[in-house]
Amino acid sequence: MSEVTKIVDSVRSGKSSAVAEVKAALERAESHTDHHVFISLTEKRALERAKDIDEQVAAGRVVGALAGVPFVVKDNFLAFDGATTAAAKMLEGFETPMQATAVRKLEEQGAICIGKTNLDAFAHGGSTENSYFGPTLNACDKERVAGGSSGGSAVAVALGIVPFALGTDTGGSIRQPASFNGVVGIKPTYGTVSRFGVVAMASSTDVIGCFTKEVEDIELVLSIMAGRDERDGTTLPNPTLQGVALQKQRVGVIKECMGEGVDSEVRELIEQYIEQLKQAGHEVEEISLPMYQYALAIYYIVIPAETCSNLARYDGIRYGYRAGKSLSDVYGKSRDGGFMPENKRRIMIGNYVLSSGFFDAYYMQAEKARTLLINEYNAAFKDFDVLVSPVAPTPAFKLGENTSDPLKMYMADVMTVPPSLAGLPALSVPAGKTKAGLPVGVQLIGKCQDDAKLFSLAKETEK
Ligand code: GLN
Repeated sequence: MSEVTKIVDSVRSGKSSAVAEVKAALERAESHTDHHVFISLTEKRALERAKDIDEQVAAGRVVGALAGVPFVVKDNFLAFDGATTAAAKMLEGFETPMQATAVRKLEEQGAICIGKTNLDAFAHGGSTENSYFGPTLNACDKERVAGGSSGGSAVAVALGIVPFALGTDTGGSIRQPASFNGVVGIKPTYGTVSRFGVVAMASSTDVIGCFTKEVEDIELVLSIMAGRDERDGTTLPNPTLQGVALQKQRVGVIKECMGEGVDSEVRELIEQYIEQLKQAGHEVEEISLPMYQYALAIYYIVIPAETCSNLARYDGIRYGYRAGKSLSDVYGKSRDGGFMPENKRRIMIGNYVLSSGFFDAYYMQAEKARTLLINEYNAAFKDFDVLVSPVAPTPAFKLGENTSDPLKMYMADVMTVPPSLAGLPALSVPAGKTKAGLPVGVQLIGKCQDDAKLFSLAKETEK
């Protein structure tokens, strides 16, 4: 039985209670404060909800599929009771007026949100070091980064505080921290889960997903969150996320991700995983995707362009933090004081590539190149069912190691951004650990809406 089903089972049968499960999770959260996983905990509301569920069980009423299961969300999800900060000073004092669809759906099934986790401010980054509240530490080595931007959620699951956690992934923010902390993380097909009530980063690649210890729990949590929502026009009507019988798969190993620049231990662990796939009877071959070499450049033009538009609403008037007195003063001073340096960098790059005279040369050109990348994937999926690569070129790096050089930091995203640009589902599963004990993840990439196939394949190797 998986961790989530174990809890639901014992809450329903009376072996445990929702209150006991929530209390235990809160205690675990308190005992790991040194990792700096949380921005806020919502004890009072969580315990009230738990009590309510226990009363329903005692009265013999039907309770939901996630009854009594504590979980956490990245602090860019709106969830009742308290603040939503997106880890930036900009949202200081902002009181959450509503609940994100994804959180609401989980809570309707009896899951209980106990807190909000740390991230890179506005989800810009790959280490959680860009948080206004300071970095989250890696679950396996406190001198190393948690990865990001959903670092807090990944570490919450890795340390066993909660059985599942929500994150967002625009270019790797679920997959990379999952890899760095040794847990499972899914970036589903674009449009699988409603983004209503989640702070937007880049609207053409933003997706919502989750972290768990086992693939089975990902299937369960994701199928509950997924589906059409009239408040997010990009949501898909009926995504299939469970129960695909697996036949022999044609697996393509992406050549561009296995060569130069990839840590040798990472490569070895991925090769071992590939060997396992072969032994399970799957057909494995190498495939070259030459557009991969441009993916990072495309991403860091298209995404800042969308990001600067989405961040324009934070003007010191409508949300959170405000500085200055006159109108022009308020715009300038609030944005200067409210954003982190990485936010400002992206706002400047975004406005530059969209500005008159540069639009065609940068933004337009990048979107055209993005289409070529998508075409290349489409061609590859004629011959292959699933593509495989490492999640990141290295295991978790040291705190501070990449902070002075943004380009070096961006390089860590080189293998996660291509599927994001194409809207493809991509799953990060643990492939093993390095000699120093650092987790390494393997990335399984599927065709649009082939998420269930990735789960089946991963479950087979998980055994
Ligand atoms: N590290 C990537 C970036 O900085 C991904 C961020 C994300 O997925 N939110 O853009």
